[in-house]
Amino acid sequence: MQVTEFISVSDLASLMNIKPADVIKACMSLGIFVSINQRLDAELIEVVASEFNYEVQFISAEEQVEVEEEELDDPKDLVWRQPIVTVMGHVDHGKTSLLDFIRSANVAEGEAGGITQHIGAYEVKVGEDNDKEITFLDTPGHEAFTAMRARGAKVTDIAIIVIAADDSIMPQTREAISHAQAAGVPIVFAINKIDKPGADPERIKNELAQMNLLVESWGGKYQSQDISAKKGENVDKLLEKVLLEAELLELKANPARRAIGTVLEASLDKGRGYVTKMLVENGTLHDGDPIIAGEFSGKVKAMFNERGKKIKEAGPATPVLVLGLPGAPQAGEKIKVARSDSEAKEIATKRAQIIREQANRASKRISLDEIGRRLALGNFKELNLIVKGDVDGSIEALSDSLIKLSMEKIQVNVIHKAVGQIVDSDVMLASASDAIIIGFQVRPSITARKLAEKEGVEIKMYSIIYEAIEEIKAAMEGMLEPTKEEEIMGQVEIREVYKISKVGTVAGCFVLEGKISRNHYIRIVRDGIVVYPGNANQNAELASLKRFKEDAKEVKSGMECGITIKNFNDIKPGDIIESYVINEVKTMLK
Ligand code: GDP
Repeated sequence: MQVTEFISVSDLASLMNIKPADVIKACMSLGIFVSINQRLDAELIEVVASEFNYEVQFISAEEQVEVEEEELDDPKDLVWRQPIVTVMGHVDHGKTSLLDFIRSANVAEGEAGGITQHIGAYEVKVGEDNDKEITFLDTPGHEAFTAMRARGAKVTDIAIIVIAADDSIMPQTREAISHAQAAGVPIVFAINKIDKPGADPERIKNELAQMNLLVESWGGKYQSQDISAKKGENVDKLLEKVLLEAELLELKANPARRAIGTVLEASLDKGRGYVTKMLVENGTLHDGDPIIAGEFSGKVKAMFNERGKKIKEAGPATPVLVLGLPGAPQAGEKIKVARSDSEAKEIATKRAQIIREQANRASKRISLDEIGRRLALGNFKELNLIVKGDVDGSIEALSDSLIKLSMEKIQVNVIHKAVGQIVDSDVMLASASDAIIIGFQVRPSITARKLAEKEGVEIKMYSIIYEAIEEIKAAMEGMLEPTKEEEIMGQVEIREVYKISKVGTVAGCFVLEGKISRNHYIRIVRDGIVVYPGNANQNAELASLKRFKEDAKEVKSGMECGITIKNFNDIKPGDIIESYVINEVKTMLK
């Protein structure tokens, strides 16, 4: 049974096809008093469901709403779509200049007015014949990129990381790289300002190599292009490399389906009401479509492109400005076309309810305490950490030791490490990647602390490396599912077999070793081979255990007993019954 955590008593009951009163009774028998509309936590849901023989699998609230909306694409409807690109890099390395140059140089001729509207993104035509397109998000920098990701939006296919060739790899360059890597977005490096005296692109490539980022001309996998954003030199070559990277990604979309996209920005406009700037990601958005974004539902009243032109439809990877929602959804929120107005309304109402609940709940982000609960929910496989410290040496030492805590079931990733204070962008990265921040001999800035509180990001601070490692290790042990280990309890020999009508086949036995108990699992071994149960994953049980006609709880070595086995009668004298129990063992780290 798939359920969301915090499902209400009445919903849980209807899922199990029983009366709410039965769920309430079950809770009462556990000593917990609940009302019919009360929402239950994961642990209680599991226990109650198991009372009624249901095994539960937890899904998130969004997933539940999503499931109902899922629309599958027929592979034959899929067509190539243009890539969506974000430009990132250190301040003053030339991000804005690059975007400006691309915007002015690559607007197709004949389209009057150029780009006049800020709609969060724009499309440019590229390639020799201007026959290819790229969509650029027009807010450069990793802050916006990661803020989007924190909302669960992935609106970037490729990141261009701009590095000034007359400077070197700066803290924000490193951050931008970490943020792109954490998002799993391929990077194309743009080594900028090559027109400047003192520019040395090779030095930058060398620095990248030291970070384990080998560019192609150095025999690595990262594409890079030396450019001058100011003069526009080689920008065309850079865009070709972006297209090449895009081809590798095999970006596909289905223009025939109902549109789905992401809100880039929304605001209240004096004359026009709420305007939503969005990127259509899949499908085609039409004038008049019923749409939902977050808790708002409405109808597309009008759409405009980045040139301020009214359009009737917008296909995959196109940015549009939409009028028609009754409010301003958050940036990063999904925006979808519903089947009908009423469906849009219904989903929006459901969402509003979920949003209220989530707001009521404590933080849902990962924390050391949260780890155990997540594991119980069965969806926790990775522990992401951001390590900030006072000196390089201790960051390296700490990161290495933390990564070494990784084990088969949980991978520890250090997604970003740097010297210095814990700052806002660390918190946003943590929020987007569901990471915990480890501060070694450093403290968060005041704004970062506030932001962490708001986003529910845990910041742990240590001044002794050993303590940091021990604490995380302990949390990970808590979060490990116990492994099951079998313990053999006894060996019992079958000496005689009686067939008794109504009762079945009774074995007259002698306990050779250890003991056998009513609640032990058993298996039957004949000439060294297990003959029952047939499947090693099954556990067979006794139907009865008797001593001198009386039911016995346990029979010890050296004693005789009578045994019947549940669902199995094919026993022979000489067979050995092996009794065992299954212990749950807490996994320890080595
Ligand atoms: P951003 O902070 O990364 O957006 O950087 P800007 O695009 O604002 O550029 C910062 C400064 O570098 C500006 O004064 C630009 O004119 C200058 N700049 C950007 N690209 C180049 C370039 O290719 N060559 C030279 N000489 N200057 C550049």
